[in-house]
Amino acid sequence: MLRKVVIANRGEIALRILRACKELGIRTVAVYSKADRELMHVRLADESVCIGPAPSGESYLNIPAIISAAEVTDADAIHPGYGFLAENADFAECVERSGFIFIGPKADTIRLMGNKVSAINAMKEAGVPTVPGSNGPVGEDSDEALRLAEMIGFPVIIKAAAGGGGRGMRVVEKSAALLNAITLTRSEAKNAFGDDTVYMEKFLQHPRHVEIQVLADGQGNAIHLGDRDCSLQRRHQKVVEEAPAPGIPDDIRNEVAERCVRACIEIGYRGAGTFEFLYEDGQFYFIEMNTRVQVEHPVTEMVTGVDIVKEQLRIAAGEPLSLRQSDIQINGHAIEVRINAEHPERFTPCPGTIRYFHAPGGNGVRVDSHIYGGYTVPPYYDSLVAKIITWGPDRANAFVRMRNALDEVVIDGIDTNVPLHREKIFRDKAFEAGGVDIHHLESKLRN
Ligand code: ADP
Repeated sequence: MLRKVVIANRGEIALRILRACKELGIRTVAVYSKADRELMHVRLADESVCIGPAPSGESYLNIPAIISAAEVTDADAIHPGYGFLAENADFAECVERSGFIFIGPKADTIRLMGNKVSAINAMKEAGVPTVPGSNGPVGEDSDEALRLAEMIGFPVIIKAAAGGGGRGMRVVEKSAALLNAITLTRSEAKNAFGDDTVYMEKFLQHPRHVEIQVLADGQGNAIHLGDRDCSLQRRHQKVVEEAPAPGIPDDIRNEVAERCVRACIEIGYRGAGTFEFLYEDGQFYFIEMNTRVQVEHPVTEMVTGVDIVKEQLRIAAGEPLSLRQSDIQINGHAIEVRINAEHPERFTPCPGTIRYFHAPGGNGVRVDSHIYGGYTVPPYYDSLVAKIITWGPDRANAFVRMRNALDEVVIDGIDTNVPLHREKIFRDKAFEAGGVDIHHLESKLRN
């Protein structure tokens, strides 16, 4: 097993990783910015190292500072969490070159999957279904681009190969708007990601977002842990997630999950990963792969009983996967809500001091959160302050438990989106029925 792990992240996920390390008897090092001294996991870690000032560019994204923290504490591995450096291939490479274990895939895999064009091509080759599209970068030739769009059929979406976080995408309804859209997306992509490569896909009108969780050991073994539905989104950001995805026939979900497993083996994938798909009219279309643990991983843990972070640590320690596909049974249903420090209607961030925090509880309720009464949410980072996850023997019961949990939770002193969940989302009949598309929440918020 690993001896000592540097947790190169903050907030709830840092605490989540710390808990998994403790369960496995691994010592922990918290690295934190000057704004984060009061974080719960910093108090609980065996050792802690301040890696720089509040802005993440000078702390959580500061590669030399993180590597030196690993050196001075004599750690043997680094867990990147999600966000920050989790999908930065140069960081993964630097960690390994410095003699530490990167808890994640090999740098080359991160690079392959970080470019959406190369990711889509690799998945196509491995037999994973993709969105009809350009199958590669869109070139400079305008006639060629127009021909391509006509062939795919309007509307199409122009996407940056290096894009992420819902940025660098533009929908085009008709041919007159195509060339301008390509030029604009290209220059945005160049500015935001330093790479002006764009590609074209069919724009699906009413898809759901359904993703498959995988675990692979890089030694020829891979399994999937079923699917999650993350269709409730605002500005391409997930707001509620659930497992399993409701209403998808088992033969269709199993077929795509098995293809993901085969793809993992083919590309020599190592660690936890997620294949993201759009799902429309009974068809799955691959859009991208995330090569890290995801915010919504707890819903999968609740229905499978597998601790995904502990599995990441075991894989990083070089252990072959001990789980077989036949060990994985989907039991009941789980839902997660993301509680953000933000105004419930305007969605503007709302950092500040929490006067009082009361966590919900009871059978089937899990809260992943770093906050406590007296804690100050700093203004510098993501606004996620808690995740409430409920499990039930069926979806209806998980739903009721979530309503109860939302009635119980108290976060005083700052604005949060709890009222949005309590009064809008969990009173919405269409969502309760299951299977709404990715536009559902935004259209509801407009009305
Ligand atoms: P990012 O890496 O920025 O999250 P994705 O490729 O995962 O980008 O796409 C983010 C979101 O954009 C999807 O969840 C979906 O809502 C929308 N989207 C992307 N591609 C398409 C498409 N071909 N048709 C319809 N919607 C799309």
